[in-house]
Amino acid sequence: MIKSNSNFSRLPERYLFLDIAKRVNAFSKANPSADIIRMGIGDVTRPLAPAVIKAMHEAVEDCAAQDTFHGYGPERGYQWLREAIVKGDYEPLGVNLSPDDIFVNDGAKSDTGNIGDILSTDGLVGITDPVYPVYVDTNLMRGAQVRFIPCNAANGYTGDIPTERLDVIYLCYPNNPTGAVITKAKLKEWVDYALSNGSIIMYDSAYEAFIRDPEIPHSIYEIEGAKECAIEFRSFSKTAGFTGIRCGYTVIPQGLMVNDESGRKVSLNALWERRQSCKFNGASYVSQRGALAVYTPEGRKQIHETIDYYLETARIIRDSMTEVGLNPQGGENAPYIWAETPQGIDSWEFFDILLEKAQVVVTPGSGFGPSGQGYFRITSFADRQRTIEAMQRIKNLMNK
Ligand code: PLP
Repeated sequence: MIKSNSNFSRLPERYLFLDIAKRVNAFSKANPSADIIRMGIGDVTRPLAPAVIKAMHEAVEDCAAQDTFHGYGPERGYQWLREAIVKGDYEPLGVNLSPDDIFVNDGAKSDTGNIGDILSTDGLVGITDPVYPVYVDTNLMRGAQVRFIPCNAANGYTGDIPTERLDVIYLCYPNNPTGAVITKAKLKEWVDYALSNGSIIMYDSAYEAFIRDPEIPHSIYEIEGAKECAIEFRSFSKTAGFTGIRCGYTVIPQGLMVNDESGRKVSLNALWERRQSCKFNGASYVSQRGALAVYTPEGRKQIHETIDYYLETARIIRDSMTEVGLNPQGGENAPYIWAETPQGIDSWEFFDILLEKAQVVVTPGSGFGPSGQGYFRITSFADRQRTIEAMQRIKNLMNK
């Protein structure tokens, strides 16, 4: 009989958010009248920008007529979107990229999870901890060896530069779950480490649109030398509310090389194109037209306003956590707030207390990795009034 992929036995039994849903559903079943406020999952709650909606309506109309119908698109994404990305996202940062460095996708989760297809499983994969669980799980699935890079208050949640050699390093800033950002100086240390060790950095900047501090880098390519050592992942999900529409992109500079097994230089851009043209048929025409509208003046303005709304919600959460002494961090250039559990109690224990005594759902920090123990994450992707109510309930509980 065929055997299953034994790497799957290295994975936690369930994905974190399924675990949370299971506990919340059980509580809800036992307490049907409970008014539960969900501050756990990182899904957006505000509708799409009118400019995006208009563009997608037009794209649907295109598909209704013989002359303007669109079937399969290019695997890398439409040229007009890749040009808009280069012009709209990178030129203002002083970063010079070509549209051929860009691969449009159906969201960052797929590519952050699949990118390992083009790398050998030899060597070590370093992953900052706590972390978005996809990087760890997908590397375990492919049989790679993972090392956690602990992130804590002492290193500003940006990890200490390792003394051992890591072949691949996953960084995510602004960070999910801690809401931490990275300075240019610290990011340069990571880039220098990668250049001197021949490592590749997987840089996930899915939350860059939340950066308001002009000193904080939006892209790893703002750092000299990064085009020789880094792949960057971006998404329209949190930038523009595309979690249900699905569109994002990956940047693999054409000059980014690794060795093959015989020591010959190979282009990661070429390998990824080969991989995508085999396993992926492109993001839909309608979602790419919606993404294009993100770069129009009205699209930009509307999106900025929505992110301001979330950031104001984040401020309310952060202030409330400070008030009850839970030492929050994040939430200023990121949608997430990372706070300590009272008296350092177990993350899941505090999750249960908040659910049972305040009917508020948060995300237990330990679900994001060992360094998350004793913390919890709150998201600002929530309704303002419900957030205020949730914060009041937590304050009442903590002040008892
Ligand atoms: N990267 C990070 C750090 C995330 O938190 C998420 C979603 O929560 C994603 C990537 C995936 O986003 P999407 O697949 O919706 O683009």
